[in-house]
Amino acid sequence: MPDRSLDGFATRKLQALERRELRRSLAGTEKIDGRRVRSQGRELLSFAGNDYLGLSHRPEVVEASLAATRRYGTGAGASRLITGNHPLYAALEARLASLKDTEDAVVFGSGYLTNVGVIPLLAGEADLIVMDESCHSCLLAGAALSGAKVVHFNHNDPAAAAAVLAAERSRHRHCLLLTEGVFSMEGDLAPLPELGELAGRFDAWLMTDDAHGLGVVGDGRGSSFAFDEPVDLPVQMGTLSKAAGCYGGYICASHQVCELIRNRARSFGFSTGLPPGTVAAAAAALEIIATERDLVALPVARARSFAAALALKPAQSAIVPLVLGPAARAVEAGSALREAGFLVAAIRPPTVPAGTSRLRFAFSAEHSERDVRELTAAVRPILDGR
Ligand SMILES: *Cc1c(COP(=O)(O)O)cnc(C)c1O
Repeated sequence: MPDRSLDGFATRKLQALERRELRRSLAGTEKIDGRRVRSQGRELLSFAGNDYLGLSHRPEVVEASLAATRRYGTGAGASRLITGNHPLYAALEARLASLKDTEDAVVFGSGYLTNVGVIPLLAGEADLIVMDESCHSCLLAGAALSGAKVVHFNHNDPAAAAAVLAAERSRHRHCLLLTEGVFSMEGDLAPLPELGELAGRFDAWLMTDDAHGLGVVGDGRGSSFAFDEPVDLPVQMGTLSKAAGCYGGYICASHQVCELIRNRARSFGFSTGLPPGTVAAAAAALEIIATERDLVALPVARARSFAAALALKPAQSAIVPLVLGPAARAVEAGSALREAGFLVAAIRPPTVPAGTSRLRFAFSAEHSERDVRELTAAVRPILDGR
């Protein structure tokens, strides 16, 4: 008799992951400050977080969170459509719209909730979604939920996107062209001017996920400002959980699009509003991002020195990947760096395609040039042995 129990099912699934070097485990990790963490009894210099500006520890941001929590309590208590829309949201959304130069903005519970709520609202069964093959899991989840026909194009290849659009566009009602602004596992910028031109030519709506662009590229305003001319982008998604150091997701768009989202996006209406402290902290963080140009320039500067010292491709964001191939190699390299005192993420499938497992280095304004030099020295042997 095969074992049909739930635990038996879970055990077999876990064993299969283990055989492929894909089992993950949660390590208790305590942040000491913007650059150091304590994990499994060791203090490590971390290049594994997305708190690119160290704002999760900035006194003004922490104070804003505490003051709002004292005043409004720890939880929103209901969906924003019912009673969870505490007064801090309007200021946060106004600040987002002003930073991105859009008419309006709407804040969700998280970036993941934003994508799974908005994509199915903008595309349905009669429609087409054309998306970069390296798009994040929550963009895939949103696309799958939409019921639209989904076609992927080669990473950052506008000619490939054009070929898909030429073949498919005329058979569908609306078309959503989806990309990340800064790719989370590659660290490169999407060719937004070219994709914008394609969107115009093929009557498609261009939407970016700029989770890793806000606070880092385009003077902190994100990837739509990282090119010579600002790119016309009708739907810009992002998160408050990375460079802003808080939590929550957002869409910056026209007033009509934001109003539609407030009315109809399910993960907006059927999920509780963010804790007031989080909303206040995010507004304080955005104020810093909008005004402190020198701070905002640091993560990319650090990533550039690291990439240059190791003769890797010039960094375009705070993220530098080092592709090693097999999952086991990435895990071994991550362990070797941990032995040397550095915390670096080893990224394996399904986050990246099989055979492209990698180390992902994420740089922060809190890292000094000396931190970067020490990391470089520890990474060199891995690079030489590749
Ligand atoms: C982190 C991330 C998200 C999800 O954002 P959360 O606010 O953490 O849920 C979405 N898209 C990309 C590209 C990301 O890297």
